[in-house]
Amino acid sequence: MLPFNLTILGSSSATPTSERNPTSQLLNHAEKLFLIDCGEGTQVSLRRMHIHFQRIKYIFISHLHGDHFFGLIGLISSMHLLGRTKPLYIFGPEPLKEILDIQLKASQTSLLYPLEFRPTQAEKPEMIFEDQLISVSSFPLLHRIPTTGFLFKEKPGELKIKKDVIDLLKVPVHLIPKLKAGADFMAIDGTLHPNSLFTQPPPRPRSYAFCSDTAYYENIIPEIAGADLLYHETTFMNNRVANAIEKFHSTTGQAATIAQKANVKKLLIGHYSARYDDLQPLLGEAKAIFPETELAEEGMVFEI
Ligand SMILES: [Zn+2]
Ligand SMILES: [Zn+2]
Repeated sequence: MLPFNLTILGSSSATPTSERNPTSQLLNHAEKLFLIDCGEGTQVSLRRMHIHFQRIKYIFISHLHGDHFFGLIGLISSMHLLGRTKPLYIFGPEPLKEILDIQLKASQTSLLYPLEFRPTQAEKPEMIFEDQLISVSSFPLLHRIPTTGFLFKEKPGELKIKKDVIDLLKVPVHLIPKLKAGADFMAIDGTLHPNSLFTQPPPRPRSYAFCSDTAYYENIIPEIAGADLLYHETTFMNNRVANAIEKFHSTTGQAATIAQKANVKKLLIGHYSARYDDLQPLLGEAKAIFPETELAEEGMVFEI
């Protein structure tokens, strides 16, 4: 199976703590690196974890609260100073383009590489990126300002050929692409062999859903349903549900309920309020509703 894993670069909410940085995650799919949100300190986390900046080609920004993008101009600048020439693609809310342009202009930085900006919108779900192996869609969350989540979904692979059967029945090489596309095989003696004799189903496509800052919002359930891994913010514990409602954030119980209703395989919680030193009580509350829950913490890697 292709590598598909998530590294936590930052798991704090609005302000950093001595242990935690604001939100940032690095998703590796088939050695292609996608950065998701870029809070202050992201490039330091990347350095600490020995991740080569220039391998990042795509950056996705969920919304324009500072704890999700204040690290971006620093990272863009470092990529420039380190001699990047390959394009960098940034997906995010439209005003981000102007913010970056002003920062680059004021610092008289003329980038050595193309910065390709792709605006997102938070009104409806939309496919924003695809290549041969994976697609990325954005979908609206419920927050104080326009905010999107992102769903990274593998594309279905090809049927896998059983080489021993191909050899045994002397299937001509030029017919193999047809078998991979699902065709049956007619032998010289007129026997029709079903495709299933020659092929194995491809691995099941996997998916990762990133739900950045959001209040409890059941509208996201169809977008994230069945995900192998769901990240959902949990700024507060259950006893602060009033704070969560007021600030358009979620509690541990609300995140776990979304995970349960969306029937995901695993829940990852994060975006913890700086008031929590010990995260075990948050984990306990979420697990009481959705046992397959884990804490996002700096440096942790989760296989998808
Ligand atoms: Zn935030
Ligand atoms: Zn926010």
